[in-house]
Amino acid sequence: MPKGRGNLFVVSAPSGAGKTTLCRELVMNDHRLRHLVSHTTRQPRPGEVDGRDYTFIDEAAFRRMVDEDRFAEWAQVHGNYYGTALDRLTGALEAGDDVLMDIDVQGARQIRKRDLDGVFIFIAPPSMEELERRLRNRRSDSDDVIRRRLAKARDELSCLNEYDYLVLNDMFEQALDELRCIIMAARLRVGYIPPGYGLVT
Ligand code: 5GP
Repeated sequence: MPKGRGNLFVVSAPSGAGKTTLCRELVMNDHRLRHLVSHTTRQPRPGEVDGRDYTFIDEAAFRRMVDEDRFAEWAQVHGNYYGTALDRLTGALEAGDDVLMDIDVQGARQIRKRDLDGVFIFIAPPSMEELERRLRNRRSDSDDVIRRRLAKARDELSCLNEYDYLVLNDMFEQALDELRCIIMAARLRVGYIPPGYGLVT
């Protein structure tokens, strides 16, 4: 890893596993960790802010970025397109920021191929029954959507062995601690020299 370059953390999880809340909490309390804002064609949800949660764009603009090779990875998830802009990713890493990417398994696979020395973390619910209970408790999705999300979760769980770490989100605080440990371990690797460190040249 080049001197001064940030660490890359790639986090995937089935929807309902609690990933968004965990990632938000991690970034809020760790000034060296930066959440990379993705582009998406889905509509903003209430409370979401353009440029903070996502950069919201239409399908034509998304396709243009694909054609111009401006995504480090992109995928279609639940009928919408999502992608990580290459310049945002390399810019943040080269600036020495530790980067947290919250992306699906298809995107994670593309990032793995890029040889960016990322740390791949999978967050899973404690059981499929618990996942179903959480999805139903949200009261935001129809039965059909919930069924599709559960089927996708099964698919995603079958990709577990592509990841370096598994965090079970049974108890929120414990899952958060485990994620912090993974981040700390990556920062302590000999190959990683933090920005501004002058002892080793
Ligand atoms: P949501 O619409 O609920 O925010 O996200 C739906 C799914 O899309 C989540 O699994 C999330 O990790 C994934 N996702 C968000 N941004 C990206 C991205 O830039 N690339 C990929 N491949 N997936 C993403």
